[in-house]
Amino acid sequence: MQVFKFGGASVKDANGIKNITNIIQKYPSTNLLIVISAMGKITNKLEELTWAHVKGSESAQEIFEEIKAFHFNILNELFKDHNNPIFDEVANTFVEIEWLLEDEASDGAAYLYDQIVSIGELVSTKIVAAYLNQMGTFTVWTDARNYIKTDNNYREANVIWDKTEQEVQKHLPSFLDKGVVVTQGFIGATSENFTSTLGRDGSDYSAAIFCACLNAESMTIWKDVPGVLNADPKWFDETEKIEELSYHDAIELTYYGANVIHPKTIKPIQNKGITLYVKSFLNPDEPGTAITNTKTPLPVASFIFKVNQVLISIFPKDFSFIIEENLSQIFNILHKNKVKVNTMLNSAISFSVSVDNDEEKIKQLIVDLSETFKVKYNAGLELVTIRYYNQQTIDRVIINKNVLLEVKSRHTCQIVMKDKTPNP
Ligand code: ASP
Ligand code: MG
Repeated sequence: MQVFKFGGASVKDANGIKNITNIIQKYPSTNLLIVISAMGKITNKLEELTWAHVKGSESAQEIFEEIKAFHFNILNELFKDHNNPIFDEVANTFVEIEWLLEDEASDGAAYLYDQIVSIGELVSTKIVAAYLNQMGTFTVWTDARNYIKTDNNYREANVIWDKTEQEVQKHLPSFLDKGVVVTQGFIGATSENFTSTLGRDGSDYSAAIFCACLNAESMTIWKDVPGVLNADPKWFDETEKIEELSYHDAIELTYYGANVIHPKTIKPIQNKGITLYVKSFLNPDEPGTAITNTKTPLPVASFIFKVNQVLISIFPKDFSFIIEENLSQIFNILHKNKVKVNTMLNSAISFSVSVDNDEEKIKQLIVDLSETFKVKYNAGLELVTIRYYNQQTIDRVIINKNVLLEVKSRHTCQIVMKDKTPNP
């Protein structure tokens, strides 16, 4: 069997849904599981709605109306018959948010976030499944929360693998025999049956979980790019598409921030030796990229850029050496503030980390670190990671930059840098 994952960009409007329907209809309709994200930028809107509700802001209702109108406009374009039960189904799904919004936001913000934001996936999958049925493809809609079982670490829930595998194997195969099965990415359920989410962009990971539990033959992520490129076209004029990529390189690239695939996706796929294709939903007949157990390293150097970095340097207050005890304290503080380290370097008297400049988090982090350490930081930086670097590739990225930190391993070089300020 095969698993397809369609992200928000592929279902951002009625034409998008028509397009993915055409793609799906090229494949045999049994033994095909489709995992879908929320439409377009709806997850961002739902986040806004959650924060407005948590703050008790009046704008919550307005944002909610906007979200509903967006979906009903698409429904009106796709279904000429307004008696189609999908209209009621979508309306009923939104009623669940209405109930939450009527109460004061007394529960934890992360819990509320998951209950509200998950609606995006529930609605998008209902619409796509109804449309596929209307277009003659027998489709079964199923609720991912029945399968993906997680802990209650809301917004970044951890999958409980044995329970998940059990639920998937018990129920899904009989649906897959009947027709195309459509389910949600990104969402799961706790043991108390509350909705949880797997972290932003987690739908790729959901698809990989289903693949691993079903021993799928392959998984395909359908994107608006032709496949995995050696750099983001946003930063580089000349990019190359990679035909075949090893799991290992894919893990490294996504870990360092290549946002073509969610970093957690590869491991479950690799463990089962399942091929992962990344293909274009705009040119579905093109081969895209295949991620496999090939031993061949990348044919070209790959570049991953992260902007808006802060380089934080941490020193013992008495300027003594950095020792293991300091490091363990520093990592505890980073962990407590949920700050992910993008690169790090230690010297005798300091330890430096480059992290995303998420203002609220970083402010608190610096307060916490400053209790024990002397802290210096520098914001507005870029981090570039080069996989399979050589001097030429390094020279290429540091033109007109001041390098603040450079870390090299055998295949990977990371550089934290800043634009050279022009002479006055
Ligand atoms: N809709 C969720 C998000 O935008 C999950 C996903 O797209 O993978 O983060
Ligand atoms: Mg998305």
